[in-house]
Amino acid sequence: MNPSPLILDPLILELKGNSLDDGPGIRTVVFFKGCPLDCVWCHNPESKKAAAEISFESKVCVGCNTCMDTCTNNALSRENPLFIDRNLCTLCFDCVDNCPAGALEQIGQKMSISEIVDQVMKDKPFFDTSKGGVTFSGGEPTLNMAFLGKAAKALKEKGVHVLVETCGQFNYDSFIELVYPHVDLIYFDIKIMDKDHHKKYCGLPNKGILKNFKNLHKKYLNGGVTVLPRTPLIPDITDTRENLLAIVSLYKEEGVKKTQLMPYHPLWQEKNLKIGISPVLTKEWSPEKWMAEERVKICEKIFIDVGILLES
Ligand code: SF4
Ligand code: SF4
Repeated sequence: MNPSPLILDPLILELKGNSLDDGPGIRTVVFFKGCPLDCVWCHNPESKKAAAEISFESKVCVGCNTCMDTCTNNALSRENPLFIDRNLCTLCFDCVDNCPAGALEQIGQKMSISEIVDQVMKDKPFFDTSKGGVTFSGGEPTLNMAFLGKAAKALKEKGVHVLVETCGQFNYDSFIELVYPHVDLIYFDIKIMDKDHHKKYCGLPNKGILKNFKNLHKKYLNGGVTVLPRTPLIPDITDTRENLLAIVSLYKEEGVKKTQLMPYHPLWQEKNLKIGISPVLTKEWSPEKWMAEERVKICEKIFIDVGILLES
C-alpha cells in the first residue's frame, strides 16, 4: 500500500511544559487536536474534533455581558444551561477576544513546526538534566503524519528525546516512512480486545490497531524503537477480568515484557461541559467516581501474576 499522509496542518491544543506524567524525565507535551477514535471516557474530550471549538467556563465568568453584546448571531444566552448555542455560533471568536475574564476560550490554534520547535527547545535544559524530552500526544498525533514526522525530525536533530503517544489507529506504511525514523519511544494504547466492544466504546473496530501493534512490537524485538503498550483502566469497560486476560494473552503471544496501566479519573466531565457536551451516565457505569485503589491493585495483579512488569 502507498503511504498517503494527510497534508492539512493540524491544530494544537496546548504545549505543556514540566510534565512528569508523559514519559521519562521532565517533558514538554505537544497536544494535537483531532482523533479517529471516539472513546466514551476520553480524558481529553476537547481533543476529539480536529476543528477549532469554543469553550465556556462558568466559574471564571464575571457576568459582564460583553460577550452577548459582541455576538451578532445571538448565540449566547444565560437561559441556555450550556451558555453557547453551538447551532448559532459561527466560531468567529469575537466574543473570546472581548471576554475580559478569559471565561471564553478558543480550543485549537495553528502553530508552525518552527514555532513548536522553538517553544519546546526552551525546555531543553530541563530535558538534559532529567533525561526527559518531548512527547507528542493528543488527540492523535499521527492524524497528521507528515507534520508530526517533520516536527519529530527537527527536534531529534537538536538532541531531544522524542516520544509519540498513539491510539494505534493509523496508516502503518506512512508511520514507518514519515515518523518512525525520528522517534525514540512509542506509547501504544491497547484498550479493548473484543472487536464489538471496541467499536461500541471507542467508535471503531480494533483490527487495524492490533495489527499495527503486532508489527511495531516485532520491530522493537528485532532492535527497533521501544514500544510500551498501555491500557487505561475504565471501570466495567476496559478493567474487566475478561478484557485484561485477553490483553495478557496478546502480550504473551507477542513477547511483551512490560506495560503501563492508567487508572480512570472523572475530571473529563468538567471538560465536556465546557465544550457543550452533557456527561454520559449510565446505570451500570458511574464515571463520576475516582477509581478505588483496591480495584487498581486487582487489575495490576493480573499482569504481575504472569511476570509482566508494570511501569509507573
Ligand atoms: S464565537 Fe462568534 S458566533 Fe460564536 S458565540 Fe462567540 S461571537 Fe458568537
Ligand atoms: S464576556 Fe466573559 S466574563 Fe463577560 S459575561 Fe461573557 S463570558 Fe462572562
